[in-house]
Amino acid sequence: GATLLFGSLAACSSERSDDASDGGSAAAGDTTIGIAMPTKSLERWNNDGTHLQELLQDEGYKTSLQYADNKVDQQITQIQNMINDGADVLVIASIDGTALGPVLQTAADADIPVIAYDRLINDTENVDYYATFDNELVGTLQGQFIEEQLGLKDGEGPFNLEPFAGSPDDNNAKFFFKGAWDVLSPYVESGQLVVPSGKAPATVDDWTTIGIQGWESAKAQSEMENRLNSFYADKKVDVVLSPNDSLALGIEQALDGAGYTEADWPLITGQDADQANTKNMLAGKQSMTVWKDTRTLGDQVAKMVTDIVNGDTPETNDDETYDNGVKVVPSYLLPPQVVTADTVQEMLVDSGFYSAADLGL
Ligand code: BGC
Repeated sequence: GATLLFGSLAACSSERSDDASDGGSAAAGDTTIGIAMPTKSLERWNNDGTHLQELLQDEGYKTSLQYADNKVDQQITQIQNMINDGADVLVIASIDGTALGPVLQTAADADIPVIAYDRLINDTENVDYYATFDNELVGTLQGQFIEEQLGLKDGEGPFNLEPFAGSPDDNNAKFFFKGAWDVLSPYVESGQLVVPSGKAPATVDDWTTIGIQGWESAKAQSEMENRLNSFYADKKVDVVLSPNDSLALGIEQALDGAGYTEADWPLITGQDADQANTKNMLAGKQSMTVWKDTRTLGDQVAKMVTDIVNGDTPETNDDETYDNGVKVVPSYLLPPQVVTADTVQEMLVDSGFYSAADLGL
């Protein structure tokens, strides 16, 4: 890894055939950006991929956008093919952040810079930059929302809490859980929050014990069904810590199935402002979501790409948090924001993220 000759990128790619491009710099037209995304099955990655591709094409770059169906081997093959096809920069939202070392060594041998998109890539020196949202703050916002809504600071409780965490292979998931658990665990200790299922990790580092592999809604649903069947014969769940919207959706289905109604529906957190969850917020079935305006992430990454191609150093704003086990990866963190039913119109519709019709408004 170490020093890459960013300035020579445009020159290196001059052998490739030059498709007509409709704008951007002279260098951009000869430059191909490989974009590896995890899966089409989750709404946000479709938006992420489409938006970034459009931005880069508007700048005059050629792009190769690939989705890997959440399959690690498929993603590795796709990245290898991008390298073989002469990609000049790689932008990667990894599935398993620890599985890309060998393929990224191949990228480094070909002097291809790598930007980790949204999720850090671990255990390799061959990742140059990281652009993401402040992942720990996502969890903090979820924890603080629960703290505030339940009046925990005022000593309210006890409340029955069921905590969930994200996919164990996703580096972000531990940051989400840590952010939330640092706020909530003192109330578990004080007894204001009770976890009837016992599925509260002993320490924040044990979060994988409640992680939902692949962030799958169906797995979150069956886990919630199991907890409700086994531990809630004579009680009600008051609050669910869900790290994101795909899990929240499954949890909400389990609650529906167990006969919860508006009268006893628990507080539920989420993340991403997915369309189905936003509609559920409006219908009172989800209390909040942490919205990450993926358009701003795309904008930031497009800037990074252009700086790299031009031989400039991309702007970063956090050069100490994201240690990938081999090095601290220079990062640009964007701010996540809380959205509730009351602010859907202002934040998600007025900003153009959704149309009113998208949300049935
Ligand atoms: C992303 C979240 C997303 C989750 C599941 C995480 O890495 O940061 O926005 O909900 O993956 O796709």
